[in-house]
Amino acid sequence: MTDVETAAVVKADGYGLGADKVARAMMRAGVTKFFVAVAEEGVALRQALGPNVEICVFSGHMRGDTDMISDMMLTPMVNTVGQLTRHLEALPGHPFGVQLDTGMNRLGMELPEWASVAEIALSQNCRLVMSHLACADEPDHPMNRQQLDQFHLMTDGISVPRSLAATGGILLGPEYHFDLTRPGIGLYGGLPFTDAQPVAYLDLPVIQVRDVEEGETVGYGNAWTAARPSKIATVSGGYADGLIRALSGGATLWHGAHPVPLVGRVSMDLITADVTDLPELPGVLSILGPDQTVDALADRAGTIGYEILTSLGPRYQRRYSGG
Ligand SMILES: *Cc1c(COP(=O)(O)O)cnc(C)c1O
Repeated sequence: MTDVETAAVVKADGYGLGADKVARAMMRAGVTKFFVAVAEEGVALRQALGPNVEICVFSGHMRGDTDMISDMMLTPMVNTVGQLTRHLEALPGHPFGVQLDTGMNRLGMELPEWASVAEIALSQNCRLVMSHLACADEPDHPMNRQQLDQFHLMTDGISVPRSLAATGGILLGPEYHFDLTRPGIGLYGGLPFTDAQPVAYLDLPVIQVRDVEEGETVGYGNAWTAARPSKIATVSGGYADGLIRALSGGATLWHGAHPVPLVGRVSMDLITADVTDLPELPGVLSILGPDQTVDALADRAGTIGYEILTSLGPRYQRRYSGG
């Protein structure tokens, strides 16, 4: 067994689930390092978690962020020579990390840039050297090995801890783990971690139920026409709550174990569902639960679980258990 630390990625409000709550639960579970996308998220997280954890910022040391980084003890993952220079000049001695680009071409320094500053960076208070995989959710993709090789080429021999793997990379195996892993989606029950336990359930209240005659239509654009006398439930929740419009006509809600088809278009605050075949009129319908994971729902809208989770809006009453 090698000694690998697991950090938690809680960007985008903890993947839509509430960063302060999920991060506190993870802290109780022993996590001491967190990652966010931007400094503003780091400020909110510091206020929620107190001084005893490390909060790392993927966007690095952006212009205008110096006070937040300093006052809130954030650790920026610097992405360019410019960011490194800004950091060392503005906050000498303040911890930072370095993000390297190993082929994804999104964030981080490439080999020549890194070669020109590695010695300086590593002689300062550099806490982590990291990179990110582009295709880790496809285990057989040759890009994984290429990026692993490139990461070795760029970092072998340094004494600072290294990190390459998010959820997908963790599943590729121990070669990809280095000193620290950075799972996000796997902590929240999403693919590519097929064994993940779903953690987010979503029940929507039924506002009213009406009888609709054969031939009557429901919702915007008359997009659905009753083929038989039907009972239609109008449910509180719409695209402003993250039930994205692409779910129109293609999604299923659940009443216990009974599937209930969403009919017509998703509107801003409401969806409509055909409850004709239910044995009783429901008070709530479930759209995320044991019968429909975030990834299953995402499939119906042609997207990924990440987008469903991070779209969940602020109007839901959230209840937390466990942890
Ligand atoms: C979002 C992100 C993660 C977490 O990725 P998951 O696929 O959700 O596990 C890790 N590292 C970086 C750089 C990221 O942007």
